[in-house]
Amino acid sequence: MIDDSVRVAVVGAGHGGTTVAALLRQHGFGGPVTLVGAEPHPPYHRPPLSKSAGGALEPLRPEAFYAEQRIGLTLGATVRALDARESVLLLDDGSRLVSDVVVLALGARPRRLQVPGADLPGVHTLRTVDDARALTGELGPGRSLVVVGGGYIGLEIASTARRLGAEVTVVEVAERVLGRSAGAELADRLTARHRAQGTRILTGTAVAGLTPAPDGRVGAVVLDSGRSLPCDVVLVGIGAQPCDELARSAGLECDGGVLVDERGRTSAPGVWAVGDMTRRPLAGRSGRFRLESIPSAGEQAKQVVADLLGLPAPAPEVPWFWSDQFDLKLKIAGLVGLGETTVVRGDLDGGRFAVFHLDGAGRVVAVETVNSPGEFMAGKKWMAAGSVVRPDALADASAPLRESIVEGAT
Ligand SMILES: Cc1cc2nc3c(=O)[nH]c(=O)nc-3n(C[C@H](O)[C@H](O)[C@H](O)COP(=O)(O)OP(=O)(O)OC[C@H]3O[C@@H](n4cnc5c(N)ncnc54)[C@H](O)[C@@H]3O)c2cc1C
Repeated sequence: MIDDSVRVAVVGAGHGGTTVAALLRQHGFGGPVTLVGAEPHPPYHRPPLSKSAGGALEPLRPEAFYAEQRIGLTLGATVRALDARESVLLLDDGSRLVSDVVVLALGARPRRLQVPGADLPGVHTLRTVDDARALTGELGPGRSLVVVGGGYIGLEIASTARRLGAEVTVVEVAERVLGRSAGAELADRLTARHRAQGTRILTGTAVAGLTPAPDGRVGAVVLDSGRSLPCDVVLVGIGAQPCDELARSAGLECDGGVLVDERGRTSAPGVWAVGDMTRRPLAGRSGRFRLESIPSAGEQAKQVVADLLGLPAPAPEVPWFWSDQFDLKLKIAGLVGLGETTVVRGDLDGGRFAVFHLDGAGRVVAVETVNSPGEFMAGKKWMAAGSVVRPDALADASAPLRESIVEGAT
């Protein structure tokens, strides 16, 4: 437990790092807090970057917040090295930041496409507001976009690009979109919806290379079948990898992300970590998971601040996230891959439904909802309580949700 003589340095001024700094003050910590971020912008919301056009910067906190809260905000500064034993950070301008506690919140970076032509002008990835401005500035009527990767970011950009009037093709190597993160029912309905909006979706299709147009920009995406898709712009959305190089060089235990415990502690005393860069335990599950979501980073920020300040450990949260595509508001809780059977409630083709994923004992392990906030809240609550449900009652959308419960919280 730390007192006000302790200096805290938070590296990474995104969702996780900013929440840690803000929560420290909210819980009365009075010592020095410095928040260092590589981007030149004040901390901002990432989710709108793929969901709305234009790359508007939506700040996480009002401009005055940091000064009012005595949070030293150092922007446009990349931390190059960490001496974990001494809690010293080396910044890219050669300066050193000496602290007593370090919290790492470096996030993740987009995975690059490893094919010829992947670095041609007009080929984009999306993580930052500058990426979003560069990408959406190139979209509009008469422009054609190829999205490589049918994950959430790819599909959200496909939806945004259609709204901007661009021609859109999504190329996905797996047999369906959202293969890693969604069940087949949801993935199939989203595919149908994108197609109905004029997006071409090619699944089971790999990209072999990108070729230039006469002006030197990307001109086509070449598929492994040899087929060529002419285009003006490409977005590569094939997942993200944790920014864990700094932690690895500092000797922290990493395995596809910095390993942390349920208090956000790394293997180095004095160093905590949160957010997309971590692999973390989840209550009731064995192993560690790398989750990429705002709620997960927020939960870990609470864990770290509780640990630092000697507060009671926060109650475990059910992992969840959201996505917006066209007029579909998706909310997903739990881990879809852990289910054995699914129960659909509502009309899959009607734009409003929920897919519950159950384990062998009839417990809800995940719920995917489209425009169904009641089902989302119920599913999340049932997961937290370990409730067992009756599939036939749950599938009957005319029956109240509480009648589905066999055992546990309603
Ligand atoms: C386009 C997009 C849409 C998304 N939509 C959703 C959504 O709808 N719902 C949802 O739950 N999640 C969404 N996410 C995921 C969500 O944004 C992340 O899970 C969340 O931002 C993780 O917070 P973080 O603090 O770990 O990382 P980030 O918010 O990425 O912050 C990390 C920061 O650290 C900085 N940094 C990295 N290295 C250094 C260094 N060496 N020195 C200093 N600073 C450094 C980075 O520049 C960055 O600003 C989306 C992500 C993207 C990219």
